Amino acid sequence: ALEVEDLHKYFGDQEVLKGISFTAHQGDVISILGSSGSGKSTLLRCLNLLEKPSRGQLHLAGEKLELKTGRSGDLEAVKRQQLEAFRARMGFVFQNFNLWPHLSLLDNVALAPAQVLGKSKKQAREEAAALLEKVGLGGKKDTYPLQLSGGQQQRVAIARTLAMEPKLLLFDEPTSALDPELVNEVLGVMRGLAKEGRTMLIVTHEMRFARDVSSQVMFLHQGRIEEMASPEEFFTNPRSTRCREFLSSHL
Ligand code: ATP
Ligand code: MG
Repeated sequence: ALEVEDLHKYFGDQEVLKGISFTAHQGDVISILGSSGSGKSTLLRCLNLLEKPSRGQLHLAGEKLELKTGRSGDLEAVKRQQLEAFRARMGFVFQNFNLWPHLSLLDNVALAPAQVLGKSKKQAREEAAALLEKVGLGGKKDTYPLQLSGGQQQRVAIARTLAMEPKLLLFDEPTSALDPELVNEVLGVMRGLAKEGRTMLIVTHEMRFARDVSSQVMFLHQGRIEEMASPEEFFTNPRSTRCREFLSSHL
């Protein structure tokens, strides 16, 4: 499980996250909704420590990180090693898939497990082949990213993330760079992961997906959690006016 306690993030004087607290239990799928600029990407980036949180606490499967920014602007009391260990437990899938264009699909997926997790080349490649199979690209493992559609590339990116055996999967608008007809193949893979019981945090504008797949919906507004509820509750009976307005403009 991931526990987030009173997470704050400043960019200069601007407070972008104003005390975010929530828990994602094992197997939870949390959709994060909110209008542009509400802090969705910053939240995911802070959880993964791609951005340094200004203050707060993170616990992930027993590991605890207490975050406090010192005068230098650096995180105090967090050892680099601890930070790396923490980050390694999370897989991040971006809007733009960032595959290596000069490597085959198989090598794209097998590279990091061999280099970072220290797996043998053989094992890394076998596992990569199985993961490509899982995302429906088993037949294409020797082709190169630029020969693929955007939806296929994003599925490879998901396989690459899974290869690192993360405890938690973070997705930041994984389908928003795709042509509409390619969105469903990626959402299909994500549905499969949810069914397997993976713990996932997903920033998305796909309302139907959020409604069908999430265990919880988080609605962010100006750096705060305005509402967190089951999808049934959120989509049929949102409590705040802001959520109602957001839903009426997005459904
Ligand atoms: P969108 O739906 O457009 O992706 P978002 O909810 O993901 O929006 P964020 O990208 O988290 O929003 O941005 C939240 C606020 O933080 C915005 O006001 C943005 O301008 C600001 N911000 C984000 N990243 C930085 C940065 N690196 N430096 C300064 N300000 C930033
Ligand atoms: Mg964003």
